[in-house]
Amino acid sequence: KTVDPDIEKIADRLASVKHKLLILSGKGGVGKSTVTTNLGYALAADEDRQVAILDIDICGPSQARMLGCEDESVHDSVQGWAPIYVKDNLCVMSIAFLLQNRNEAVIWRGPRKNALIKQFLKDVDWGKIDYLLIDTPPGTSDEHISIVQLLLQAGCLDGAVIVTTPQEVSLLDVRKEINFCQKTNVPILGVVENMSKFICPCCNKETELFPSTTGGATKMCEALKLELLEQLPHDPNLAAYMDKGEEYYGKFKESPASKAFASLAE
Ligand code: ADP
Repeated sequence: KTVDPDIEKIADRLASVKHKLLILSGKGGVGKSTVTTNLGYALAADEDRQVAILDIDICGPSQARMLGCEDESVHDSVQGWAPIYVKDNLCVMSIAFLLQNRNEAVIWRGPRKNALIKQFLKDVDWGKIDYLLIDTPPGTSDEHISIVQLLLQAGCLDGAVIVTTPQEVSLLDVRKEINFCQKTNVPILGVVENMSKFICPCCNKETELFPSTTGGATKMCEALKLELLEQLPHDPNLAAYMDKGEEYYGKFKESPASKAFASLAE
């Protein structure tokens, strides 16, 4: 049996990474990157854990901004590309660190995107990592096919966490995402419903932000026999901290959103 040298190299590289998780969503703007960033912080709250985030949203990378390190650039060494550390035990790799200018548009066709994803998997020198969270673009595009094929061939993908809002337009696309996972044999670890409700900071009254006609993610998970991992409230502070690139999780540990991230990390 001939073994693809690239796949061997990926398997070697990721042998030092215990858990590899994809974070997926059907639609853009539902909070997939926000969940990835904050799950990263929540996991890294345990100092004994090493956590890494890989952003493969080639055309719209958000992790560098959300983690407050968008002016960094990649350092190359004999061991490979060094990830950028935002905390002692939390690091990130993204195309954002390879661009000259943060407003530069990446106008690439599939093969070039696939080549970069392969290079990230082959060449990033992660070191010993407990959790690698892979932030993806919305939908089921070239990037998804490429990352799933490479990780499955290298035998190193634990599964996917799917993020949705309760809205019908998001759930519709999430069902396609679930179908994609089933067709490509990616285990689905569960679903996170984001912006499930809004908790008023003045009176604590809970309001549904997106009333759903079909019962939101809860009903969808029941029907598809998937685990609903967490329901995250909308929190304007969370959006503000993500925009500023500052850590929300460590600062607002007692907020309902942070508690949800902590329980997701458990
Ligand atoms: P995606 O990765 O799915 O495109 P993002 O994580 O970039 O979505 O989120 C889209 C926008 O919504 C961002 O401005 C983010 O700050 C905001 N956002 C996401 N989740 C929440 C939330 N629970 N509360 C408040 N704002 C949120």
